[in-house]
Amino acid sequence: MEKPGETIAVVLSAKEAFEKLEKVGEGTYGKVYRAREKATGKIVALKKTRLHEDDEGVPPTTLREVSILRMLSRDPHVVRLLDVKQGQNKEGKTVLYLVFEYMDTDLKKFIRSFRQTGQNIPPPTIKGLMYQLCKGVAFCHGHGILHRDLKPHNLLMDRKTMMLKIADLGLARAFTVPLKKYTHEILTLWYRAPEVLLGATHYSMAVDMWSVACIFAELVTKTALFPGDFELQQLLHIFRLLGTPNEDVWPGVSKLMNWHEYPQWGPQSFSKAVPGLEETGVDLLFQMVQYEPSKRLFAKKAMEHPYFDDLDKTYL
Ligand code: AMP
Repeated sequence: MEKPGETIAVVLSAKEAFEKLEKVGEGTYGKVYRAREKATGKIVALKKTRLHEDDEGVPPTTLREVSILRMLSRDPHVVRLLDVKQGQNKEGKTVLYLVFEYMDTDLKKFIRSFRQTGQNIPPPTIKGLMYQLCKGVAFCHGHGILHRDLKPHNLLMDRKTMMLKIADLGLARAFTVPLKKYTHEILTLWYRAPEVLLGATHYSMAVDMWSVACIFAELVTKTALFPGDFELQQLLHIFRLLGTPNEDVWPGVSKLMNWHEYPQWGPQSFSKAVPGLEETGVDLLFQMVQYEPSKRLFAKKAMEHPYFDDLDKTYL
């Protein structure tokens, strides 16, 4: 019962509280809209998320994931979750609306804009973006959360300030696996670590560092480092550059579930894959693409790498 002096919060549904302006993207788990909060006029990103088909209401695991997301989004390099609203779709199924701060572009579009004009991304810009990426990843890993699907598409950016923020975080376990392949890129394999491709059942922070490395190389060359269309091709792209792994370089590799006999390649000169990248950058990249996951540099260590020594970190 209402106590004297207590105010009753009026809970608005997402439809009542927000005016959808336009669809800005489609993520793995649903559509993303640019929307205006009616009460304040503030522009936000509204992400409509389906829950597991057979769940009624919001399962506790999802609520746990949302609270993890809320906690992680305190970090300046993780996209901020402002609110969560529950609603129902036309079929009466529960949907969640996640309300995020609005970001005006993502790294995929940013890289594309340079590719289209034939310009290189200035090296200090690459360094600043990489540092922020490592910082955001270090924060997540420090809280025991793996992203598992880092790629340019879900790294959001503010073009004016060059701030980079990690999106699509922690949702992987809460929300349903996509039923539909929305676009080619959504289920991209390009950033997937070899142990995942080879069917490892336990994976670690190292899977995210592999993705970070692929993103680093892509910032330098403006094309994907390992652009495979299917899993075998993805592995062969990796093997051609880094050499086909064996028990010497990666103890245990031949015991992984999807391991087969593969064509034998020796490692290529790594710096040729990233022309123009300064020597310390090549070294950092190399340390993040070690085959053996436990040898791969992790995010906190990456931030201390000499490559970042001359970066002004005051505002990062
Ligand atoms: P996601 O599901 O997070 O991968 O989002 C899919 C796409 O929606 C992204 O690539 C962005 O283009 C867009 N998007 C997601 N979150 C936001 C946001 N907070 N602000 C602006 N656009 C977003």
